[in-house]
Amino acid sequence: MSEKPTTAFALSLLSGLMILVGSILWTMLGTLLAFFFGLGFLLYAFLFFGIIILIGAVMMYMNPRSTRMWGIVILLLGLFSLVGVTTTLGGVLAIIGGALALAWNPSRAVSTTPPPPPTDTGAYCPTCHGQIRYIQEYQRWYCDREQKYV
Ligand SMILES: [Zn+2]
Repeated sequence: MSEKPTTAFALSLLSGLMILVGSILWTMLGTLLAFFFGLGFLLYAFLFFGIIILIGAVMMYMNPRSTRMWGIVILLLGLFSLVGVTTTLGGVLAIIGGALALAWNPSRAVSTTPPPPPTDTGAYCPTCHGQIRYIQEYQRWYCDREQKYV
């Protein structure tokens, strides 16, 4: 089982949802402005920020190797969302989520997993000629027959 960036995922997902909700106002305003000026569609940006952050959160959970890349994207979109007033709180969460994704260190998970069992090497004990195993933990050869290190 591989380690997941759970905290970064949860925060990013929450921030994406908050920005999405916050963007409703801007999307409606943008639609209204687009009707008169044509440029109102620019206000749809917040809607896309929310959607992309949600995708990023899910992607980093599905494929933890992409966590750092999505961390940058989510952090940047969080910064942009700060100016949206209704999306500001979601933006703050996205920045924290993105920063956590960037700081996420999967190598920590490797150190907590138990070491693999000693492998059969086909090596033999010099005194009793029984099969010996290499114990990774102690970095020594162990003779099962005599129950001692050789
Ligand atoms: Zn032996």
